Amino acid sequence: MATLKIENLTKVYPNGVKALDNVSVEISNGMFGLLGPNGAGKSSLMRTLATLQEADSGTVFLNEIDVLNNPIELRKTLGYLPQEFGVYPKITAEQLLNHIAILKGITNGKERKEMVNYLLQKVNLYEQRNKSVKGFSGGMKQRVGIAQALIGNPQLIIVDEPTAGLDPGERNRFHNLLADVGQEVIIILSTHIVDDVRELCSKMAIMNLGQLVFHGSPTDVIQELKGKVWQKSIARTEVAEYQQKYQVISDKMIAGTPLIHVLSETNPSNGFELVEPNLEDVFFTKIN
Ligand code: ADP
Repeated sequence: MATLKIENLTKVYPNGVKALDNVSVEISNGMFGLLGPNGAGKSSLMRTLATLQEADSGTVFLNEIDVLNNPIELRKTLGYLPQEFGVYPKITAEQLLNHIAILKGITNGKERKEMVNYLLQKVNLYEQRNKSVKGFSGGMKQRVGIAQALIGNPQLIIVDEPTAGLDPGERNRFHNLLADVGQEVIIILSTHIVDDVRELCSKMAIMNLGQLVFHGSPTDVIQELKGKVWQKSIARTEVAEYQQKYQVISDKMIAGTPLIHVLSETNPSNGFELVEPNLEDVFFTKIN
């Protein structure tokens, strides 16, 4: 059982942007979703946890490992899949995994080969192992990314904005793969896509302007909004007026017509109907 304990983490960039503002959260085994709009501070947090950049203050412990003061220890048990998984031209999937396994300190050739073969099979790329990764589709590259993140049996896996650029089929396969490995280790999935978290994560946090504005289970927090979310189809010209009059959580176009969700303890009447709250309602409520 692994536990990641983040306490009072703060980071101000030289340009004065406070990307992490006293972030504290405890995360244990399973898939944890970190949701936030662009610029919220998700990547700053992920890079700090992956020991790729330093924080100004605060502490991070993975079980007994003091992550910020002992990055080398952490890296032995870390799998990191960055937003852009860059690869060298012409390298094959097998060569790439072998190379990263060497970098991760797996010096025994036989052990390394077994591990690489096992991972190629796990991510369903064994047949393509001798092909150049450069020619792979987005989804295949992400699977190589997951395979390399799994080298060395990490306890902590960090996945930063994983599904951008994947088609729906690739995204499903990628999700299944994550859910499959996510039982015994901590996987932190950072994303601005609400559906990714809804589909995969039993625990989550929402980040905005460098702060954690929510931490808990998606089902519990959705439950909190029950009976308070109302929807109505309105004309485009009415959007501004409704935003003034009601606490509008979201407005989106359905077949060319704006559908708004508003938050209200009581029935706003005026043609609104009560709806089952969803994670998107939670997200917009927490970041506004
Ligand atoms: P997210 O991953 O949620 O989009 P980031 O962590 O990338 O958020 O960014 C958080 C804030 O910090 C943003 O305002 C961003 O512009 C700023 N920022 C990120 N990296 C740097 C950097 N290296 N130097 C200065 N500002 C940065």
